[in-house]
Amino acid sequence: MFEKIKSTVTVKDAAEHYGLDVSRTGKCSCPFHDDDEPSMKLNDNYYYCFSCGVSGDVIDLTAGIFKLSKYQAALKLCKDFGIEYTVSNDSVGKHQNTPIQLLKKLTNDMCRWKRSLAPIDCGELLDPYFVFACVNLEQAEYILSEKDAEVASEFMRRFNESCQGGHTNELR
Ligand SMILES: [Zn+2]
Repeated sequence: MFEKIKSTVTVKDAAEHYGLDVSRTGKCSCPFHDDDEPSMKLNDNYYYCFSCGVSGDVIDLTAGIFKLSKYQAALKLCKDFGIEYTVSNDSVGKHQNTPIQLLKKLTNDMCRWKRSLAPIDCGELLDPYFVFACVNLEQAEYILSEKDAEVASEFMRRFNESCQGGHTNELR
């Protein structure tokens, strides 16, 4: 949605629409500081204030003027400029926990466990997470490279059994 807005509405369009007095050279009084002479330059893709140094894109500008979050500002721009947006499958996917995404996270965790849970002396009881990481990290990376969701979910299941079981035993 952000990209679509940025490619549809220029910073200048938005500034004018939201009541800033924009000169023909694309300058206006900065709405972010007490500006007696126009020191903000508006380009198509970004603005920059020569006086206070603020800069950003059309979404930042809208967010700044109306004290909104970036997301709220984006929604406002869509509404005010009649931009239709659909939540793309991409961004929906980011919030879902697919087996591949879970495995990606687990793989990152395993890299960390291998470093942080390594035994300091040899008599120490091995942390089951450390053991799991040592044994399975390579395979996890392989599954990720193949992007096989079925194998990934099988891997997650095995992880949940072996590690969480091991850990609770240890805690007892
Ligand atoms: Zn300024």
